[in-house]
Amino acid sequence: MTIALRAALLLGALLLAGASAAAMPPAEVRQCLTQRLHGQQSAAQKCFAALTRAATPYLRAEGAWGLADYDTANTEFRAAVARSDGSALYRTRWGELLHERFNDGDAADLFKEALQREPKDAQAMLGLARVSADGFDNEAVNWAQRALAVDPQLAAAHELLANLAMEDNQPELAAKEADRALALDAQALDAMAIHAVIEILADRSADEWWSRIHSINPSYGPGYALAASHLVLNRRYQDGVAMYRKALQLSPDLWSARSELGINLMRLGQDEEARQQLTQCYQNGYRNDATVNSLRLLDTLKDFATFSDATTILKFSHKESELLYPYFHDVLTQAIEAYQTKYHMQLDGPVQVEVYPDHEDFAVRTLGMPGLGALGVTFGQVVAMDSPSGRKPGEFHWASTLRHEMSHVFILKATRHRVPRWFTEGLAVHEETEASPEWGDSITPDIIVALRKHLLLPVADLDRGFIHPTYENQVLVSYFEGGRICDYIQSHWGQQKLLDLVQQFAIPRSTPEAIRTVLGMEPEAFDKQFQAWVYQDTAALVAGFDDWHKQLEALVTASRAKHYEEVLAHADAVIALYPDYVYDGNAYQQLAEAAQAQGKAPVAISALSGYVQHRGRDPAALEQLAKLQQDAGDKPGAIATLQKINLIDPVFDTDSHRHLGDLLMDTRDFGAARREFGAVLALHPLDKAQANYDLARACHAAGDAKCAMDAVLAALEIAPDFRPAQKLLLELNGQ
Ligand SMILES: [Zn+2]
Repeated sequence: MTIALRAALLLGALLLAGASAAAMPPAEVRQCLTQRLHGQQSAAQKCFAALTRAATPYLRAEGAWGLADYDTANTEFRAAVARSDGSALYRTRWGELLHERFNDGDAADLFKEALQREPKDAQAMLGLARVSADGFDNEAVNWAQRALAVDPQLAAAHELLANLAMEDNQPELAAKEADRALALDAQALDAMAIHAVIEILADRSADEWWSRIHSINPSYGPGYALAASHLVLNRRYQDGVAMYRKALQLSPDLWSARSELGINLMRLGQDEEARQQLTQCYQNGYRNDATVNSLRLLDTLKDFATFSDATTILKFSHKESELLYPYFHDVLTQAIEAYQTKYHMQLDGPVQVEVYPDHEDFAVRTLGMPGLGALGVTFGQVVAMDSPSGRKPGEFHWASTLRHEMSHVFILKATRHRVPRWFTEGLAVHEETEASPEWGDSITPDIIVALRKHLLLPVADLDRGFIHPTYENQVLVSYFEGGRICDYIQSHWGQQKLLDLVQQFAIPRSTPEAIRTVLGMEPEAFDKQFQAWVYQDTAALVAGFDDWHKQLEALVTASRAKHYEEVLAHADAVIALYPDYVYDGNAYQQLAEAAQAQGKAPVAISALSGYVQHRGRDPAALEQLAKLQQDAGDKPGAIATLQKINLIDPVFDTDSHRHLGDLLMDTRDFGAARREFGAVLALHPLDKAQANYDLARACHAAGDAKCAMDAVLAALEIAPDFRPAQKLLLELNGQ
């Protein structure tokens, strides 16, 4: 959900308020607001202007707010509140102004202060509901319901609930709430807009609802902005952009919608117009975080290095473009080929992948998007993701993330962006481990705790777990559940059923309809069967969890005290209880350390191999494993291990690239060796002469005389007396 939508919902909200007279603005204010809601702009302007000449600061505040003079409105509200400490209304209205002007923290405080003065102030409760809703906080539903308990006539609260239900992909509930709002107020425009959204998302005509809105207010842009925000939330970015344009045709100064238009144009890679739209917002005083940060990001992007070919456009920060490009290009083209084959489809033109070394820049890309701090995000054929350098070493597997995002690119296209969130996420998680069993994420303790409490959601409600989580980490658990659902369908009915589901969602069919058609069962029956399987599959893990916890603690204590015999004796038992635990203080790395201290290299190798197999990602541990493998004469093993580091953290250090380059030279894989020595150079090593010489000999061996000559000359320019380089130069000249 986006800021634009909330601002849209605010406009008519007050007018729909019912009986709680204590918190209602006086008649002269309501008159102006009604004129505005009905699209009588010039009458409304006059009305608000008259208020600015009123005797009391509160009325002047309402007048200034109506005229979009927010600073004056803010000052007048402050004066009004100072004069009337007991007024809940002034605080609630001031809070609503601040909410509209991007200050949810102070807005929430004002609503709470209003409730201290008037515990039954339904408008203040609704204000808190809106603030929560902006943050995709599940408290929104609770506050809206509390407001309704106090004031059952509060149509705006039903509108908000309708909107929240729609965010959860629950159109039936949304329609019910919208109807409740309309029963209380036949002019509830946003309730009509929600009905329009329901029709649009089901690919039916919404004309009837738009006409009803127009008959009340022919220039009601916020209704289209609300629809646009739902299209964006459903990843229909192109359609969302078109809908924001409609909103702006009717209401050119609806800055929240213009800002969202700019942000979504940026998501689609249309940076030029994005900049224009956002600049216009900025110059007109609409400077919320999303607008300001997006403008800043557009500036950053100008300095990115771009690499293009027929199917890919890759953008990196200049400082790491040379290093990352070859690896990213490989993984990206492999993903495109795999999905093209699987789905028998081609994309429309190249995929653009943007790789951000600064997580804050990437975060701007996900603004207004629900869920966890993601690693990657897909907008049609544009993917934005963290660079491995933007996270702690080993924190994520960038190749797996890219493979995940590329699944979205294909599924969005295959379903014309109609796919429900749970399925596109579940399938993307499933695809990570399809690419390699060592990709994807291992089951975390949080998930085990959720499994123990049987917190999995029915498949038909799973979207809710992504959008409005009700407990910490529910988003993570929902990714896990979505992934396991796809695993289960594939293992029980075959891959074709997953493809059939894709086809169903393209029609579009709802989740229950799609399950019925493809699997021939009711969604409830599927839940029963799937959950029995997943709880059974994880039963031992869940049962042993407390025991594992205790034993791991004991192991850590023994390890810290360097009681290696004890670690060697007990680590395997700890691992057996929870083999996927590869996170902080895991038993694999402790076992490896103890084994090495005791000179038991084969034990260390087997411990670290187990760690990697279960998706352990600490690059230093992988480097250590490669060294042990090489010392044991297992060169292919060492090469494979070092290549895995490149898919996790190619930025980690120069040594692993050099080590891998040397091994690849030994095995006469000169092309691959050349890439590794190139990576060493791109990381600006201390010994640049050696690095250039290494690259020269790889190029020479690979038969690229020009590259060899350039590199050997570069080496000699740094170190003219470097003997091996001199020898190579002679050899090259002799050719
Ligand atoms: Zn995803």
